[in-house]
Amino acid sequence: MAAEVLASAGRAVDLYDAMPSVGRKFLLAGKGGLNLTHAEAREAFLSRYGSSRVPLESLLDELGPSALRAWAHGLGIETFVGTSGRVFPADMKAAPLLRAWLHRLRQGRVTFHMRHRWLGWHGVPPGAPLVFATPEGEKRIQAAATVLALGGASWPQLGSDGSWTATLAANGIAIAPLRSANCGFDVRWSETFRTRYAGHPLKNVTIVLRGDSGETTQRRGEFIVTSGGVEGGLIYALSAPLRDAIERTGEAVIEVDLAPDRSVDRLANDLARPRGSSSWSRHLERTTGLRGVKTGLLREVLTSREVDAGRLATSIKALPITLVAVRPVAEAISSAGGVDFKALDERLMLKAVPGVFCAGEMLDWEAPTGGYLLTACFATGRRAGQGVLDWFEKG
Ligand SMILES: Cc1cc2nc3c(=O)[nH]c(=O)nc-3n(C[C@H](O)[C@H](O)[C@H](O)COP(=O)(O)OP(=O)(O)OC[C@H]3O[C@@H](n4cnc5c(N)ncnc54)[C@H](O)[C@@H]3O)c2cc1C
Repeated sequence: MAAEVLASAGRAVDLYDAMPSVGRKFLLAGKGGLNLTHAEAREAFLSRYGSSRVPLESLLDELGPSALRAWAHGLGIETFVGTSGRVFPADMKAAPLLRAWLHRLRQGRVTFHMRHRWLGWHGVPPGAPLVFATPEGEKRIQAAATVLALGGASWPQLGSDGSWTATLAANGIAIAPLRSANCGFDVRWSETFRTRYAGHPLKNVTIVLRGDSGETTQRRGEFIVTSGGVEGGLIYALSAPLRDAIERTGEAVIEVDLAPDRSVDRLANDLARPRGSSSWSRHLERTTGLRGVKTGLLREVLTSREVDAGRLATSIKALPITLVAVRPVAEAISSAGGVDFKALDERLMLKAVPGVFCAGEMLDWEAPTGGYLLTACFATGRRAGQGVLDWFEKG
């Protein structure tokens, strides 16, 4: 996006990437349906960025959801709003959008250099040339200005391995450690539960998270049992406070409501119906509709087959699951942490290294899934591109 802004202003841009092709994570994002942005109202949209809202607000106002949809339209890609408000390309895919975009960039004055791994500067920046490891050996490039958009540390096999943190830190740039965001968690499942239910989704459940001072966060949706824990949309949505709690205290407890549409009283009444010769699971299914992984989870958490209808109903409404560890950032959808906004000016230029700008996930912000990640990446890219133009003009 930074390259596009600069090329549109008539500047020649050289784009370097360590991988044999660009946009690998973007293409992966398109695999499950490219969620480009979100159509909710401005206030709700901005609130998803939590404490990062402050540094991001003005640039998200410049390239927010509507502008991003218009940009995609300009590339011949129509978008639609899904039932949850998420915005996708009409065909859900990333490849046609990326293809059209790269074509337009190449028609402009953007030259792509693949298999060029940026190693840092030869000497002390600013002024020192950039150093790249390439198949032809090391290259030094003198740039009029540089935009770094090196990503976070999730899915390093796609190119973003976070190795740039050491390079920037060595040059005195404040960097918050890269941590898992939108990630799964470990749970100590029993062998029986793990073998039977790994990969099973828990659909239409609510998770409640209680904070230290009694405040609760509640989300409804679905998540997946993995062989070592839990992952999926509902877990990702709560992953920031869960991660923070685990880092503070070593564990985090979520309460799962397995039957959010039924009150505890109704469940207790239904469960109190005579069981006859039915098994515990059969009785549970007949009276509450719970079965499969939901019954399995109840059994896993309750130490014995609870027969008291009231107590069983309470457990169904608030089944505690203890999360004991955060999955590594390499497996996460995105990373928190990165270049501290205090190290940057309004144009996203490094205060300590004039002429070097940063954009995308490598900046210290985080957001849930829902199109918020790509939107902020695009918006910071645009701001960095404009920042370069501004710097050329005013210094
Ligand atoms: C499975 C998955 C699904 C996702 N789905 C969505 C979604 O639907 N919607 C959404 O909003 N977000 C989604 N995301 C997140 C989104 O893809 C990322 O936030 C976004 O791609 C980050 O963009 P970026 O340009 O900052 O970094 P990246 O896309 O990671 O790109 C950084 C680039 O820098 C290159 N690079 C890194 N270090 C060097 C170096 N030293 N030298 C040279 N090149 C280097 C890398 O090769 C890479 O090409 C998803 C992520 C994953 C993993």
